[in-house]
Amino acid sequence: MLTIYNTANHRKEVFKPIHEGEVRFYGCGPTIYNYAHIGNMRAFVFYDLLNRYLRYKGYKVTFCMNLTDIDDKTIRDSKKAGKKLREFTDFYGAEFMKDCQTLHIQKPDIVPRATEEVPAMIELIQNLLDKGYAYKTEKGDVYFKINKDPNYGQMAGIDMSSLRFNADGRLTADEYEKENAQDFAVWKGWDEQDGDNFWETPWGKGRPGWHIECSAMSKKYLGQPFDIHMGGVDLIFPHHTNEIAQSECAYGTKYVNYWMHNEHITVNGQKMSKSLGNCFTLNELLAKGYSAEAIRYEFIKAHYRQKMDFQESALSGNQSVIDKFGNFLTRLQNEANGAGWSDLQAVLNQVQEAFEKGMDDDLNTSIALAAVFDFMTNVNKNFEKLSREDADKVIKVMKKFDTVLAVFPESKQQSLTPEQEALIQRRQEARLAKDWATADNLKKQLLDQGVEVKDTPTGPVWKII
Ligand SMILES: [Zn+2]
Repeated sequence: MLTIYNTANHRKEVFKPIHEGEVRFYGCGPTIYNYAHIGNMRAFVFYDLLNRYLRYKGYKVTFCMNLTDIDDKTIRDSKKAGKKLREFTDFYGAEFMKDCQTLHIQKPDIVPRATEEVPAMIELIQNLLDKGYAYKTEKGDVYFKINKDPNYGQMAGIDMSSLRFNADGRLTADEYEKENAQDFAVWKGWDEQDGDNFWETPWGKGRPGWHIECSAMSKKYLGQPFDIHMGGVDLIFPHHTNEIAQSECAYGTKYVNYWMHNEHITVNGQKMSKSLGNCFTLNELLAKGYSAEAIRYEFIKAHYRQKMDFQESALSGNQSVIDKFGNFLTRLQNEANGAGWSDLQAVLNQVQEAFEKGMDDDLNTSIALAAVFDFMTNVNKNFEKLSREDADKVIKVMKKFDTVLAVFPESKQQSLTPEQEALIQRRQEARLAKDWATADNLKKQLLDQGVEVKDTPTGPVWKII
């Protein structure tokens, strides 16, 4: 049974989907105005892990992740770049998708873009206005009235009585139009900065606020309520808090059953910031020679609710783990020729159980990985017993685990050319004729071509090195 830590209730809970055998979940996507850095990628690998594990367990999954392609930053930076907003965000959206593919992040089933979903947002806002949960200012902004929602801030543990008007003195002149400093914008009235980036609505022209996007798109594609909503801990307040408030007030039903949040990431013990120069992008790390698998492994080796300190030096260590997986599979493919391991089925059952027990425990990847390593050690110890068929069974189970982990290296090409096969054959004939000089010579020729031949009691076996 899958249990997940539900931020809304501050405890681990057994996961029960709304529709049996089916899971609908949403993850807040990136704002596409720049290259994603590794801090962003932690969340997306985390979403992918859940997505893959739900599929591993046989659920029918609908995973929706948005792209935020309109906000202050996208508008500002597209202007700086001298490009239309759409052209500008198309570029970074495509780069983001490429990064995801590199990190073996499966494409979500639905990837809506905010600018294409404005009608759903208008509908939601109209509902809030009609029910008195939102109000319009003279400037044309629409704010959500948090005092009207008695449940506001529950998940984040916000104490409403502690919220004072303009406590930090940072309100801008526009914001003084708010009835309460904490009221948040669901719609921003048009101003010159927005240029031609606006929509007409019954309450005037403008553009959506950030929080409203996720509420409207998730309802449109997953329904309300839906099963799981994911994001980084930094989104709990205000973003997710505001999503809950506006969705529940607009539609009068619960918004989401389970909330999952991944912890922060620091780099070399420091917060990521442009001034420290530690906001690595994926391409920067790849250019330094690290493999995508070693980088992905860094994200999955620890539990998602643990704070993570990203250290570049750890990537080399990760690479040796990735190589270990690769060598293990290669050896299984090429060297198993024992008589059969009678305990194998029990061992296979045991490792699958242990792997699933770890993953079922709130996606505890460190437990699941430990189970895989123990299994590999055990198989290696008994390697000489493995028959060809046994080895295939081990490979099959390992590959099943990798449908979740997605860190095994692409297996090296494992077929010989006809010429190499002929060399092995000639060498075997030479050995049988006790012509050791020719046999050694042929062995060396093969080795020069990257094919290592070993002799076993049942004949020669080869490996591409
Ligand atoms: Zn969101």
